[in-house]
Amino acid sequence: MWDRLLVDCRVATMEAAPGNPLGVIEDGAVGIQDGRIVRVGVRTELAGNRARDVFALGGAWVTPGLIDCHTHLIFGGNRADEHAMRQAGASYEDIAKAGGGIASTVRQTREASEAGLLASAAMRLDALMKGGVTTVEIKSGYGLAVESELRLLRCAKALAASEAVRIVPTLLALHALPEDWKERRIGYVSMIVDELIPAAAEAGLADAVDAFCEGIAFTPEEVERLFEAAEDHGLRVKLHAEQLSNQHGAALAAKHRALSADHLEHLDEAGAKAMAEAGTVAVLLPGAFYALQEERKPPVQMLRDHGVRMAVATDCNPGTSPLLSPTLAMNMACTLFGLTPDEALAGMTVNAAKALGLEDEIEAIAPGKAADLCVWRLESLAELGYWIGLPGPERRLYAGDDT
Ligand SMILES: [Zn+2]
Repeated sequence: MWDRLLVDCRVATMEAAPGNPLGVIEDGAVGIQDGRIVRVGVRTELAGNRARDVFALGGAWVTPGLIDCHTHLIFGGNRADEHAMRQAGASYEDIAKAGGGIASTVRQTREASEAGLLASAAMRLDALMKGGVTTVEIKSGYGLAVESELRLLRCAKALAASEAVRIVPTLLALHALPEDWKERRIGYVSMIVDELIPAAAEAGLADAVDAFCEGIAFTPEEVERLFEAAEDHGLRVKLHAEQLSNQHGAALAAKHRALSADHLEHLDEAGAKAMAEAGTVAVLLPGAFYALQEERKPPVQMLRDHGVRMAVATDCNPGTSPLLSPTLAMNMACTLFGLTPDEALAGMTVNAAKALGLEDEIEAIAPGKAADLCVWRLESLAELGYWIGLPGPERRLYAGDDT
């Protein structure tokens, strides 16, 4: 006897087959036991099985739970004031140089209590979960000192324990150079490499290490030092690359077999080729492109031509992407970047799982995978990339439980 059986539904397994890129099973059924999928197929194949709960879904669509593979969800305060400055003509660089930007959130984050950080992050997390998210990556990066970075990672762990969502913590170790280290760049990077990475690795607080490779942030040489330290401590790497300029960060990330390179508006062909060869996922972040009113789009056709997998994420953060809706991220990926609705859905399911190194756990609706599922009352799945401001799924199952 299974725990749950979903019937009378159309299942997008996300296991691509020729002519069926989303792995759709019409008149499908999904069996769930102990939080995992035990069987998926056409209804008649599963007809002999019984379950304690049977959900007859009236023809609704079932997809994997959405995966938001790039967020900065935990921070103090917000930056609505900078939004107003940008509307008055200031650029991202202007704001950063004037002590705003990341530095302002760092101040507010350091001043916030742990309870305050958790309460505000839980509100944002709740919005993502209502939108259909069952796995969310959360980066640190607003502490910019050993203990305050570890505190953010501990907050991520606390959220994972209290909320019905899988949280994947990332140590964003090189995010911005703090004001008081401006004359001591090398010393700051040394502190991160020699103290923060070993401490986070030893405490098991991070799955991967990230950095912001950019003219206003860290150089490729500094990032490479970080990556080597991460590898020494058994941590995977990923990178904010080619957002505002081409620093050849994507190629550097690929050289270190990064899980993902993210943003990529200024990616060149050599970078795309290197990513394809390394299996590094391109994480596209249309919320930041939209909020910054950028004009240069990531080279989506080049990524397709080289066979680079594309993921889509909210990049939820207080400065450049205060985006709380995964389905709006999908819509923006279509409307702003030219992804097809199928690509956008793959970008928040199978490819996002790969961007987190979690393909064994959550990349598809298949036996053995976690029973993280969304039930959508839609005519077609193309609607996920079509509606602007779609409410969340009708049902959201996390580890088999109806949440
Ligand atoms: Zn980011």
